Amino acid sequence: MQARLNAKRSFRHGVHPPEQKEATNRQAIRQFPFAPVMVIPLSQHIGKPARAVVREGQEVLRGQLLAEPDGFVSVAMHAPAAGVVKRIALAPYANGKMVESIYLQPFPGAGQEVIEGRPVDVETATPDEIILAIQQAGIVGLGGAAFPTHVKLKVPEGKSIDTLIINGVECEPYLTTDHRVMLEQIDDILMGIRYLLKVSGAGRAIIGIEANKPDAAAALSAAVPADLPVTVEMVKVKYPQGAEKMLITALLGREVPSGGLPIDVQVVCINVATTAEIGRLLPHGRGIQERVITITGPGVKRKGNYLIPIGTPLRFALEEVGLAGNVTRVFLGGPMMGQAVSSLDVPIAKGTSGVVVFTDEETAQIPQKVYPCIKCAYCVDACPIFLNPSRMGILAKSGRYEEMAEDYHLMDCFECGSCSYVCPSNIPLVQYFRLAKGILREKKG
Ligand code: SF4
Ligand code: SF4
Repeated sequence: MQARLNAKRSFRHGVHPPEQKEATNRQAIRQFPFAPVMVIPLSQHIGKPARAVVREGQEVLRGQLLAEPDGFVSVAMHAPAAGVVKRIALAPYANGKMVESIYLQPFPGAGQEVIEGRPVDVETATPDEIILAIQQAGIVGLGGAAFPTHVKLKVPEGKSIDTLIINGVECEPYLTTDHRVMLEQIDDILMGIRYLLKVSGAGRAIIGIEANKPDAAAALSAAVPADLPVTVEMVKVKYPQGAEKMLITALLGREVPSGGLPIDVQVVCINVATTAEIGRLLPHGRGIQERVITITGPGVKRKGNYLIPIGTPLRFALEEVGLAGNVTRVFLGGPMMGQAVSSLDVPIAKGTSGVVVFTDEETAQIPQKVYPCIKCAYCVDACPIFLNPSRMGILAKSGRYEEMAEDYHLMDCFECGSCSYVCPSNIPLVQYFRLAKGILREKKG
């Protein structure tokens, strides 16, 4: 099967930040060592925190269940290494909050063997059994959203899915995690698609890839077996092409309505690394205890793509790769949609797709002074979902959050940062919107 290598398909608006992927896109995935202590937050997904099933002082095997889901919108946690549970206590997390976490001290010289549970056979398992297995494996969206994958796959009464989209776009600058997964974990991806097709009931799958990864598109395209209804489609390089709604528009020409979900246009969209985990774990009944991340940026000496145990403290990860220059800013995720961390004591979590490190040289170039809005409308032309960031920015400054939501669809904003990126007045629009949404959510309870 041929992939479409010169795709022009895309969405309207968007921006073109420098890609900055050359430093790592040819680097094979390398295994990361165990840190002296791992910190596994019980809440590293959207939804209710998991409930610990181990106690302090207990010895565990690698892959053993540490915490079980607490309700449907919750997932399990597994031990990233064989070791001893030292403490169950509050620990800093990437969102700036303290969350209950399990401190695990790996045994000296602990190996990489992982314990297995009950395998789930894709041929014989029912859709509900696969959904349960995905939840028990602790799988969430590895593209950064950390939304429990099994929840996305539960098709509500009266709805149906005709197309499964596998998202291999990875439009965020610097990150090459999904790119390497698509080159090195092809069998896992194809197996994951088999599970996802069965559980979603979709008749076909499309793997969407940005046109800057033709090697991944060609490799996947060549590997698709004749019995699998999968096509590989290239889309234009543009940010935020990897956002679900943008990718659905580019591939299918369907518009997800305001306030709606992909399922409203008969689509479910799953990140490619998440798909690979489903294909890798379910046939063995394993839980997720490591993931691939890119560690890069001008402040990193040994840039690369690493298979890293979940719960590895950021400080340990950065010591291992070596820091260069005077580090001033560290992002979990990429610089557009990622989160700048205030503490290096936070752990790598399931939703951490990369770590990007900047030094004083780059941060010195970021304009600090904010000027008044000059009504240039660049932000309006950049917004991929046709919001009016200029107007919303003015309302945010005077605290008129309800008006932003009711009249300007604030809650549709998915914080891509395109508006801030183009603003010549350096107005931190996306920060305003994030804050406004947070305040409205809190008010709502
Ligand atoms: S951050 Fe929100 S308002 Fe700004 S461009 Fe992205 S979606 Fe539009
Ligand atoms: S890009 Fe900035 S200056 Fe221009 S209209 Fe938008 S908010 Fe105003």
